[in-house]
Amino acid sequence: MIFAACIHLLICYLSPVKQAGPFKIPEMRKISADIIFPADAAPLENGVIVCDEEGKILRIGPASDFDPAAIEKYEGTIVPGFINAHCHLELSFMKGAIPEKTGLISFVKHVIAIRDRFSKEEEMAAIEAAETEMIANGIVAVGDISNDQRSFAQKSRGRLRYHTFVELFDLGPEMTGEALKKGKKVMEAARLIPSSSASLTPHAPYSCTPRLIRETDRLTLKGKGILSIHMQEQEDENRLFTEKKGAWIQFLHDMGCSDTWIEAGAKSSLQYLLPLLSPGNKKLFVHNTFCSAEDIDFAMENGGEVYWVFCPNANLYIEDRLPDYPLFLRKGAKGCIGSDSLASNQRLCIWSEIKQIKTHYPEIPLETLLTWASINGAEALGMDAELGSIRPGKKPGLVLIEGLGSLQDSIRDTQIKRLV
Ligand SMILES: [Zn+2]
Repeated sequence: MIFAACIHLLICYLSPVKQAGPFKIPEMRKISADIIFPADAAPLENGVIVCDEEGKILRIGPASDFDPAAIEKYEGTIVPGFINAHCHLELSFMKGAIPEKTGLISFVKHVIAIRDRFSKEEEMAAIEAAETEMIANGIVAVGDISNDQRSFAQKSRGRLRYHTFVELFDLGPEMTGEALKKGKKVMEAARLIPSSSASLTPHAPYSCTPRLIRETDRLTLKGKGILSIHMQEQEDENRLFTEKKGAWIQFLHDMGCSDTWIEAGAKSSLQYLLPLLSPGNKKLFVHNTFCSAEDIDFAMENGGEVYWVFCPNANLYIEDRLPDYPLFLRKGAKGCIGSDSLASNQRLCIWSEIKQIKTHYPEIPLETLLTWASINGAEALGMDAELGSIRPGKKPGLVLIEGLGSLQDSIRDTQIKRLV
């Protein structure tokens, strides 16, 4: 036995593999710019990021530690890859198909009317192009809504990280059972998308009965534990639950649905919804255009972990109105940024959403908006172990904001370039 082991060692020692020379040192990149914005640490002037060929961050240090000849130097600011906290990839084929600024109810009716009007090939081509656009725009992960499986083949290619929110709605108690059955089936398929996560979620307070909301919340609590709910995107959503009046009652009647499940007397849509949900589920409230100070306080006191996802370009496209962002900041609320879908946006680009907010609210610091677009989004989607900040050990993707030599500069004429 000992003799055999000695022979084996001798063969290994003499083998060509052993004599092939020194092992290959992995390629490393040393990347620098005027400013590095790590997102979870103070911005760094003239710092250097060392990463391997896979984009994993190995080290961040001052330029004086490195040979200048070995550094890739860029003009501008380097930020972590963007997190798109709210998208509907499956609606990409609707780009330009729905008129702007006609209000949410008209928008929803248009979506329903044209949802099945395009060929399978047109839908798939639009979904692929939309994903390619997101990658070019520095997006590395997406909180993506799915009502069915039409985006799953593209997501399975693994070019972006996804958390798929399998979205349910019933519009009345007569459809609750069917909505749950369909949602569970889509969820089974969503679980099979490689390198991604998924959870069931109710669509919005006005489109889901209390039974559907409770049941979806209960099922999600067993799994990943993240809900993404469209919230207070339109003024009459609050009237539906405070007075049982307004345009949404008419919408339900137009759709042939009963309104027996709606009761007047709540303080707002948000304050009606939140008690139906478990504090244990993380909550992404999306849009929040008509959210009051009292609503924010109520959610932060009673909602557990709550993130407020803002989609300014879609808000202007549909309702032509923006949320009161400074109010959320004064309350210490955690913001995220989403693009919503190409049905209500010209592009899927988080940097253009930041530009839109800055145009209307120049007083909001750029650092705040970059934090919303990176680490907050990663935390909201449960991806912060790998994404959302430039920190050794993570693989966040690196994005250059060309033309931004200081975080105090105007961002109007800046552009995005993906570095890693
Ligand atoms: Zn949406």
